Amino acid sequence: MRSRSLLLLAMASILRGQSLALTFDDGPDLKAVGLPRAQAMNAAILKALGEGKVKSILFACGKRVDSPEGWAMVRAWGDAGHLVGNHSYTHPYLNSKKLDLAAFEADVAKMDALLRPVPGFTKLFRFPFLKEGDTAEKRDGFRAWLQAQGYRNGAVTIDASDWYYDSRFLAWKEAHPGADPAPFRKAYLAHLWDRAQYYEGLAQQLGLKGVKHTLLLHTNELNAAFLPDVIAMFRAKGWIVVDAKAAFADPVFSRQPSTLPAGESLLWSLAKEKGLPGLRFPGEDGDYEKPLLDAQGF
Ligand SMILES: [Zn+2]
Repeated sequence: MRSRSLLLLAMASILRGQSLALTFDDGPDLKAVGLPRAQAMNAAILKALGEGKVKSILFACGKRVDSPEGWAMVRAWGDAGHLVGNHSYTHPYLNSKKLDLAAFEADVAKMDALLRPVPGFTKLFRFPFLKEGDTAEKRDGFRAWLQAQGYRNGAVTIDASDWYYDSRFLAWKEAHPGADPAPFRKAYLAHLWDRAQYYEGLAQQLGLKGVKHTLLLHTNELNAAFLPDVIAMFRAKGWIVVDAKAAFADPVFSRQPSTLPAGESLLWSLAKEKGLPGLRFPGEDGDYEKPLLDAQGF
C-alpha cells in the first residue's frame, strides 16, 4: 500500500512537472570549422546525448552538411536513434521581401530529397531563423505546401541564443588559452535556465500548463563542451528531459498562429496572437545577451 501511494506521488509530480526536448539545428559546418573539429563536435554532442539517455533531433541544413563527410555526421544521429529533420538547403530568410514562396519551397524540397535515405529521417521542418513569412500569402502558402508534403512544423517553444554564447565562448577561449571554462559554463547555463523559465511562463499565461517544450540548440563548440551540464541542470531543477519524438506529439505543435511577420518561438507567436503585453521582437537575439556577457568580463 505504502509503495503504491509513493508511486502515485511520483506519478503526480511527473504529471505536474515541466518537460523539454533538446533539438539541434544546422549540423556541424565542416567548411567553417574544418573536418576534425566538426567531427569532434558532432561526436561530443552525440556522446552527451547517449550518456544522458536523451533522444533528440538534428534539423540538418544542406549547405552545411552536403559532402560525404557531412552526411556521415548526419547519419550518425539516426544510427544513434535520434531523429533527423529538414532545416532547408541554403538556410533562406523567409521574411525577406526578395524571397518568394516558390524559391523557398524548392529549397526545402531539395533538402527533402537528400534526407530521404538518411536513418531517422522524419518529416519535421525547422524554419531557418524561425522566420515563417512576412506576408499572409507566404505564411499560409508554405503551411499548405508543408502539409501537402506530409510535413509538420518542428517548432521551437524555448528559443535561446546559444549561437551567440558560442561566438563569445570561442573568442574568450582564444583570448584566455588554457583558462578554466567554469565561469563561462555558468553564464551559459544561467541563460538557458532564464529562457526556459520565461517561455514556461508564457505557456502558463496561455493556459498551456504541462506543455512539452522544445529547446533550440545548435551543433556548436559550446554544446560540445557543456551539453552534459545542460542536461544535468534541467534535471536538477526538476524538469524531465523527454525524447524529441514525444515532445513533437504534443498537440501544441499543431497550432498555427496568425501573426505577421510569422515565426519566432511558437509560444511567443501564440502570445502575440493573444495580445499578451511585453513581448520583445525578435524574441531572442545576441543584442539582448551582449551587455550581460560584457558585464561579466567575457
Ligand atoms: Zn539554422
